[in-house]
Amino acid sequence: MNVKLNDTVVVITGKYAAKTGKVIAVSPKSNTVTVEGVNIHKKAQKARKANEVSQIVEKEAPLNASNVMVLCEACDKAIRVKHSVVDGKKVRVCPKCGAVLDKGYSGKATGKAAKKEAPAKRVRKRAKKEETAETAPAEDNKAE
Ligand SMILES: [Zn+2]
Repeated sequence: MNVKLNDTVVVITGKYAAKTGKVIAVSPKSNTVTVEGVNIHKKAQKARKANEVSQIVEKEAPLNASNVMVLCEACDKAIRVKHSVVDGKKVRVCPKCGAVLDKGYSGKATGKAAKKEAPAKRVRKRAKKEETAETAPAEDNKAE
């Protein structure tokens, strides 16, 4: 499969043809992708617990990966992915402008690491804010 998670793709056939969206799920086993805002189906969801509400939910359904093309962010064109080796690593490359498409993927991995650190920092920040909130107005008065 040439499409990966978080890719921007163009739908090339069917009801949603020419629509672009972000890939929110991939299934190499069934060769399908789920694209944000594409192939929306209504699903009748029954309440299974006391605090839930029965409702009709609109949700994206997976579509065949062959019905989408990867959109190159560098040249803004729907492309057929070219596979190439850069620095000993297999990467996906845009055949039109030569941009490496997997850059975003490595960026996503670092983003996850940052997220893991974030909650601990937030807690500390909150505690600090409460302390500084009391002292901050006094500082403002001094400045004026
Ligand atoms: Zn390109």
